[in-house]
Amino acid sequence: MKQSMLIDTTLCMACRGCQAACKQWNQLPAEATTFEGTYENPPHFSGRTWMKIVFREDEVEDENGKEQPRWLFSRQGCMHCSDAACEMVCPSGAIYKTELGTVKIDESKCISCNYCVRACPFNVMGFEREDGVARKCTFCYDRLVNGYAPACDSACTTDAIKTGDRSEMIEEALEKVAHLNKNGNPKANVYGLDEVGGTGVIYVLADSPEKYGLPKEPEVALTTRFWNSLFRPLRAVVVIAIAFGLWSNHASSKKLQKKDK
Ligand code: SF4
Ligand code: SF4
Ligand code: SF4
Repeated sequence: MKQSMLIDTTLCMACRGCQAACKQWNQLPAEATTFEGTYENPPHFSGRTWMKIVFREDEVEDENGKEQPRWLFSRQGCMHCSDAACEMVCPSGAIYKTELGTVKIDESKCISCNYCVRACPFNVMGFEREDGVARKCTFCYDRLVNGYAPACDSACTTDAIKTGDRSEMIEEALEKVAHLNKNGNPKANVYGLDEVGGTGVIYVLADSPEKYGLPKEPEVALTTRFWNSLFRPLRAVVVIAIAFGLWSNHASSKKLQKKDK
């Protein structure tokens, strides 16, 4: 059974309860933040911020043809893609698919190459410099296997987040969009059905994906697919070569620092 998460953005009120719950359950420390013109806090994903509420300010025409301001909110984080670019590009095999269809990282295998961060078409992979490992949303695997919903889902008071079997989540999303289309919003749509092979996180959106900061047609780069098919069988050799490259880079920059002193 493939687990999926349904995010109904039309029910999200941006309270950020889910964001706080993710931090708390996963014991993710706070981090220094900056104001970059939006109300998103912190502004970027990192090894310490695996999901966040996205705020997008927009305008819509009212019944009198007048532009009125509106907010578009959504919960964003790892999409648990079927065609997961991060998993394809990871030379050490640290990133893998679980039996629930979600995407997880085995930190003990991460060699700090950062390839997954660059390959993710949604820009949601974080990297923790202090520990030298990539980190992201785990879909609360530890909770799911013990019969609990993900922490962000449990914390959501408006039912904007739901978790369950993928086919059921899709059915619910399509029903909701059909209802919205019939009741005055022809732009409402479902996102995640086919994108990158179908994502584990599915959205009900009130407008086009770009208005929420989601790529309209996310793609796994050709180089990533090429790398996956060519180097996967030679993984052990590639890991040793990359690890050696990273080590010698590190060693020569230390030498330079010593010389400068
Ligand atoms: S959203 Fe990015 S980090 Fe998550 S599975 Fe897809 S490629 Fe990997
Ligand atoms: S940083 Fe770690 S998890 Fe990411 S691709 Fe490299 S080895 Fe894999
Ligand atoms: S599923 Fe778990 S790890 Fe992922 S965003 Fe929700 S609380 Fe965080």
